[in-house]
Amino acid sequence: MEGMLAAAVEALFPGLCPHCEQPLPGGSRGLCDACWASLVPRVGSACPRCGVPADDPSDACLGCLRSAPPQLATVVWGEHDGVLRTAILSLKHHRRDDLAQPLGFRLAAVVAPASWAPSIDAICSVPSHPLRRFRRPWAAADLLAFSVGRRLDKPVVKLLRRHGLHRQAGRSRARRLELPRRSFSTSRRARGLTILLIDDVTTTGSTIRRASEALVRAGAEAVYCAVLAHAPDSRRIS
Ligand SMILES: [Zn+2]
Ligand SMILES: [Zn+2]
Repeated sequence: MEGMLAAAVEALFPGLCPHCEQPLPGGSRGLCDACWASLVPRVGSACPRCGVPADDPSDACLGCLRSAPPQLATVVWGEHDGVLRTAILSLKHHRRDDLAQPLGFRLAAVVAPASWAPSIDAICSVPSHPLRRFRRPWAAADLLAFSVGRRLDKPVVKLLRRHGLHRQAGRSRARRLELPRRSFSTSRRARGLTILLIDDVTTTGSTIRRASEALVRAGAEAVYCAVLAHAPDSRRIS
């Protein structure tokens, strides 16, 4: 009886693809097939160290040459635009947790071929602000980290805590670069580990830089970063 009722509700109110708003077939969730198919990894070269788009993929960008980031490499899956932007916003703000696995698996697929991937001991996410955590214990970056961990068969460990209420979204580039140095504190368990740090979106790279810095300060052997999307304009990330 319950099954029949669920089927009737499903027929009357099918789930909609959050991007194109087409009905999804037979109780499925996530995006529609066409939107999943249109999601493609970023094309074009990027700085191997910080992941921002760059002309020469074989060398660090000018920013990294001027001041080397604490992470040894960064991979970024795509541009924060179109379907990927809708998927991330749905995951972040509309509790579409079902999107975390397919997106996390895609991120894992660009980490797996990296020469440093076998050396990863643990995966951790960039934590959200304490106030947000109070409202929702698992943020988008945490859910992505769990999916990447499952795909790469690596443990996911909570190693970072965020301080203060500095929100990055909507801040100007200059203000974002000013992110206080001690924005994160780190668990002692980071000592000696090679860590893969996961975040959902990066703009200037200052958040992953500060988080990586905290892990290195706590004695991490090495830190690598993987971010789902790069947003060139901070006003578009929330
Ligand atoms: Zn769609
Ligand atoms: Zn760089």
